[in-house]
Amino acid sequence: MIPEAWRRGVVAVVGLGKSGIAATKLLAREGAHVYASDASDHPYGGDTVAELRGLAGVEVDVGRHDLAKIRSAAGVVVSPGVPPDAAPLAAAREAGVPVVSEIDLGFRALAGSGTRCIAITGTNGKTTTTALVAHLMRVAGLHAEAAGNIGRPLADIAVSGDHYQWLAVEVSSFQLHDSPHFAPEIGIVTNLAPDHLDRYPSVEAYYADKQLLFRNATPRDVWVLNGDDPATLALPGAALGRRVLFSLARPAGGWYDAPAQRLRLEGAELLRRDELRLLGDHNIANGLAAALAVHEAGVSLGLIAEGLRSFRALPHRLEPVRDVDGVLWINDSKATNIASTVVAVAAMDRPFVLLLGGRHKGEPYTRLAPLLQGKCRLVIAFGEAGAIVAQDLGGKVALERGTTFADVMARAHRAAQRGDAVLLSPACSSYDMFKNYEERGATFRKLVEAM
Ligand code: ADP
Repeated sequence: MIPEAWRRGVVAVVGLGKSGIAATKLLAREGAHVYASDASDHPYGGDTVAELRGLAGVEVDVGRHDLAKIRSAAGVVVSPGVPPDAAPLAAAREAGVPVVSEIDLGFRALAGSGTRCIAITGTNGKTTTTALVAHLMRVAGLHAEAAGNIGRPLADIAVSGDHYQWLAVEVSSFQLHDSPHFAPEIGIVTNLAPDHLDRYPSVEAYYADKQLLFRNATPRDVWVLNGDDPATLALPGAALGRRVLFSLARPAGGWYDAPAQRLRLEGAELLRRDELRLLGDHNIANGLAAALAVHEAGVSLGLIAEGLRSFRALPHRLEPVRDVDGVLWINDSKATNIASTVVAVAAMDRPFVLLLGGRHKGEPYTRLAPLLQGKCRLVIAFGEAGAIVAQDLGGKVALERGTTFADVMARAHRAAQRGDAVLLSPACSSYDMFKNYEERGATFRKLVEAM
């Protein structure tokens, strides 16, 4: 399962979150010598990092990476959270050391176990679609799990010996770049848009990594593609395997019949729109993508519909928190850029108060103005970005400045009328006031629950 050369030398594991820890254990079990390191003094793996120190042949470094050790390693296994331009990876690539993702390692370790994989990639909607696939499979009685960026690392599944029939594996472009053996039977591409241009030299380079989803394609594979997105449709090129499409605009394998407000699959009615408890057309697309993939895995329409009915929004992603006196409070704290806020605003089917701000990321907010006019009752601008938000949107939409987060919430409470929503979709990162977007969303929830 691991290359012979890896047994003779040291394998470096970069990043000690859940994935890095599982990869270290897996390599140690395979008899490899491992150098596992994390730049942080307090890696996400927490106490379990200590466990690794007790394993034979494992050296652990926290708070630094020994680049000399990494340069001389036989191979490097990288965790999902490590940016592709991080120093240890740059050092490894420069020294010609092969770098593979934890997904690649875990996938190879699971080969022959009978576990089958559905991979989910794309620019937006990966996590939601991955969670949907795992949920639909479980509701259908299959032993399935979400893996990769969300859920359990593949290496962890391999180490534990747990046997799943199916894994829904979320993979980013960076992970695909370093996954030469990854060969899912079914792959979903949700959509493609220019992204990560801080880390890629061009859009083409970013799409080229996404294209690696198909590098081990066989004629038996099935590719579930966004039929409304030309870039996605073009992505597989001449790759082997069957294509099935989903669309919000026209009849396809999975499509949303908007006039009839019905989701349809393979020509049959799957679900009424209002039975899918997710906001926004983008989530219909995610639901259709997951439904198609799971159908290709052999699940009946009836069971898929049952799964779609019982699925609820993931935390911080257009998550309806609570109705307070006829006002729906929605937590979309994960929206840390303008594009995500655009998607959230498009999903609003009622007047709303928008909480906008946090740490400014550089893009102007003016693009939001035409989308808010006539729909948004009030923008409450807050955080470090508050002044810029006010400058960009003031005079175009009703706007107030908030101070503390409690003040922002109190203002929203006063302004919202029965039948409205209050939407936290800040278009900014959270680091000016919170540890991360999760803490921002949790604070929103706490304050709403106390109303
Ligand atoms: P990812 O894992 O790819 O970041 P998520 O499921 O976590 O995706 O969703 C993140 C954000 O991306 C959402 O808050 C929403 O703004 C946007 N989004 C989700 N699904 C889609 C989609 N199908 N098309 C466009 N935008 C989407």
